[in-house]
Amino acid sequence: MSRFGMLAEYNRKRHFGVTPEPPGRAAPRSDGRRPLAFVVQKHRASHLHYDFRLEHDGVMLSWAIPKGPSLDPAVKRLAMQTEPHPIDYNQFEGVIPAGEYGGGTVMIWDKGTWEPLEVKRNEIKFRLHGEKLGGSWVLVHTDDRRWLLIKHRDEFASSTTDLTTEQPRSVVSGRSMAEIARTAGATDAQLAQATGTDPPGIAGDRRPRAPGRVASPRAATRATTAPVRRASSRAAGY
Ligand code: MN
Repeated sequence: MSRFGMLAEYNRKRHFGVTPEPPGRAAPRSDGRRPLAFVVQKHRASHLHYDFRLEHDGVMLSWAIPKGPSLDPAVKRLAMQTEPHPIDYNQFEGVIPAGEYGGGTVMIWDKGTWEPLEVKRNEIKFRLHGEKLGGSWVLVHTDDRRWLLIKHRDEFASSTTDLTTEQPRSVVSGRSMAEIARTAGATDAQLAQATGTDPPGIAGDRRPRAPGRVASPRAATRATTAPVRRASSRAAGY
């Protein structure tokens, strides 16, 4: 391990004078009295994916899930392990500039805490306490950087609910991908890509589409007070 420790790869891939992402500094390990953090960030880089991150030893272990988490225990979602991220990254919502690693729009899609239930060599069983995701899950290592994320059968499981389309907004700001892109100064191309990942009808439109579907006042308030990181657009990577 270099002097950058587990965050060496994270730091090597980024130019911190250009990207609004935080530099990687390892945080103290949890003393066991504080719950461990988890976050899911929806990220429209070269391709859409959901970055699934679990706090472990002062960093966020990370997997990129192209289709996002599924609540259906019959569905195995490919989760590509990526470089550990700093815990500070959990607050990042905005636009990574064009040409930078992972260039594109990032939304904090879910956040909360997690607890390990059983950790084996090729398998991590855990419980999530998020605003969208809950219950018990397993990550199974198949080969190289490939893992599978699978929901266990419990009261949070569902074969009919797709949270990626039914609860598509940010849990911190209430914004759509298009709204995040626009506020953070995305290029036209980035804005179009971000908008393309929002379910039809929500992008940039906060008015109710039908009675009873008004965005909550709480969400609207959070949207105006959420920190916004500036940047512009385009690039590859997770
Ligand atoms: Mn990513």
